[in-house]
Amino acid sequence: MAYKITCKDAGIPTCPFEVTAETEDEAMKVASQHAQSAHNMKVTPELAAKVKSIIKTV
Ligand SMILES: [Zn+2]
Repeated sequence: MAYKITCKDAGIPTCPFEVTAETEDEAMKVASQHAQSAHNMKVTPELAAKVKSIIKTV
């Protein structure tokens, strides 16, 4: 099982970014870095909670 996060699921339909990782923590880490570098978004606890809610297991 792996954990997958996509920007589409996070509410950014124009961004093709997706990450698949072995653990939820690793997926969150990569997605957080992407949010900061690609979208200039600050990863607040609210954003982290939202992203966690859209993680899919694949
Ligand atoms: Zn993105």
